[in-house]
Amino acid sequence: MMLPTHALVGLAIAVPVSFAFPEFASVFLLSGLFGGIFPDFDLYVGHRKTLHFPVYYSVLSLVLIPVAVFAQTAWIIGVTIALVAAAVHSIMDIFGGGLELRPWEARSERAVYDHFRDHWIAPRRWVRYDGAPEDLLLSLSVAGPLLFVVDGQFLWIVVGALVVSVSYVILRRPLATIAETLVEGVLKRTLPDSLLAYLPARYLR
Ligand SMILES: [Zn+2]
Repeated sequence: MMLPTHALVGLAIAVPVSFAFPEFASVFLLSGLFGGIFPDFDLYVGHRKTLHFPVYYSVLSLVLIPVAVFAQTAWIIGVTIALVAAAVHSIMDIFGGGLELRPWEARSERAVYDHFRDHWIAPRRWVRYDGAPEDLLLSLSVAGPLLFVVDGQFLWIVVGALVVSVSYVILRRPLATIAETLVEGVLKRTLPDSLLAYLPARYLR
């Protein structure tokens, strides 16, 4: 799923806790937001493997949730929220498309890497690809309630995520062609092989 969807889901995870601890609401919302987007920091370095841990994030979350409930310490709660959001992100990606330049062609059998079993989990394609109309629907359905429960800078983050979502959904398919043209027409002709080696495989034919 696209990054704005993950950001919104991360925020939504933090909302109930931020209600319970209004004095730390901003910190917890930030934790949810950060955990929601964190796995995708691996976009160009082993995407959906380097920072996506569907099993380990989930197990760690299950360990930390009771600790956070008993300790009631702000930083432990914050870390737990971020972990849960990162776990949900990693699991959500399994229900999206495969790791390929044009995921709507449904050729890749790689969704998210499972480090525990040491293999790629196949995409379920409930959301056919990141930026698909159903991805936007998911974004909208999470953002809708959020617009009524968050305020200040977080309200602007929700609105910003929605703007990026709509733009990305409109541009998603042309972007694949633009990326390919850029790689084939410019990068492959100008960059030395040593640098091209860093380009993710999905951009190379
Ligand atoms: Zn991801």
